Amino acid sequence: MTSNPAWTNADLHCHSCVSDGTLQPEALAARAKANGVELWALTDHDEIGGQRRAREAAHALGLPYLAGTEISVSFAGLTVHIVGLGFDLDNEALNCGLQATRGGRTGRAREMAAGLAQVGIEGAFEGALKYAGNPELIARTHFARYLVEAGVCSGTNEVFRKYLVEGKPGFVAHRWATLGDAVRWITGAGGLAVIAHPGRYKFSVNEEYALFTEFKAHGGRGVEVVTGSHTGADFLKYADMAIEFDLLASRGSDFHSPDESRIDLGKLPALPARLSPVWEALRERVVLPA
Ligand code: AMP
Ligand code: MN
Ligand code: MN
Ligand code: MN
Repeated sequence: MTSNPAWTNADLHCHSCVSDGTLQPEALAARAKANGVELWALTDHDEIGGQRRAREAAHALGLPYLAGTEISVSFAGLTVHIVGLGFDLDNEALNCGLQATRGGRTGRAREMAAGLAQVGIEGAFEGALKYAGNPELIARTHFARYLVEAGVCSGTNEVFRKYLVEGKPGFVAHRWATLGDAVRWITGAGGLAVIAHPGRYKFSVNEEYALFTEFKAHGGRGVEVVTGSHTGADFLKYADMAIEFDLLASRGSDFHSPDESRIDLGKLPALPARLSPVWEALRERVVLPA
């Protein structure tokens, strides 16, 4: 390895079965390595329970690693995701904050199941729980997998569209962390906060501007530009926004499962050359192979 690697194929966003992915952290590390990833982060939702396993597996494979998580936040009536990178795993405020954010998931899942029962879909809580590798982290994704198994829909995207988004029977409005808390938990633990897949949120231009402005005011420093959730047009739009807001740019597949994910680990286009990558600011936080 050179003393200053470029890490062009950085993949800093994916999920294991510790949240709503289907693979173990070790299997993800192996897949990242096999796909040519040069710098990797596992970013489970509201949870860092898989971090040590991911870091050790990466280490054994000679793959540089950054600590990661993806925090669920409520902002302007919608759910926004904030990725944290390169933080200290033992930081108490971060661990407490994530624990509190996870805390509401089981009650929410019971309410979702009640909504689904009203349209004749019984047993969805137990069905979804069966798919959750971590019982504290039951997600809509697990409901989607169960509804496919039950024959209600033929694929998870169809389940989301018909049952799990706002206005549909399995949707429950939920209060997640605040934007300020999520950014402070990450930065207070020595990490860098990144707005995840901004192209996915259904915000007005003004709301999106407010998100970026408030995120920066709280100390957030990065935005995902190249992600599996973005179209080519989004790559251009958020590259421009990164420059306008003086944010560092991140890149991550958001890989969840070989059967479900559109983009595999490490298979994204490179970040546009005019952007400053988040990993340049995180060099000291990267866990390098021995
Ligand atoms: P939750 O945190 O329980 O609200 O679940 C959110 C997760 O559901 C996201 O992280 C994605 O993995 C998944 N998801 C959200 N929207 C969709 C969609 N339209 N199609 C498939 N998966 C989705
Ligand atoms: Mn997910
Ligand atoms: Mn997300
Ligand atoms: Mn994600």
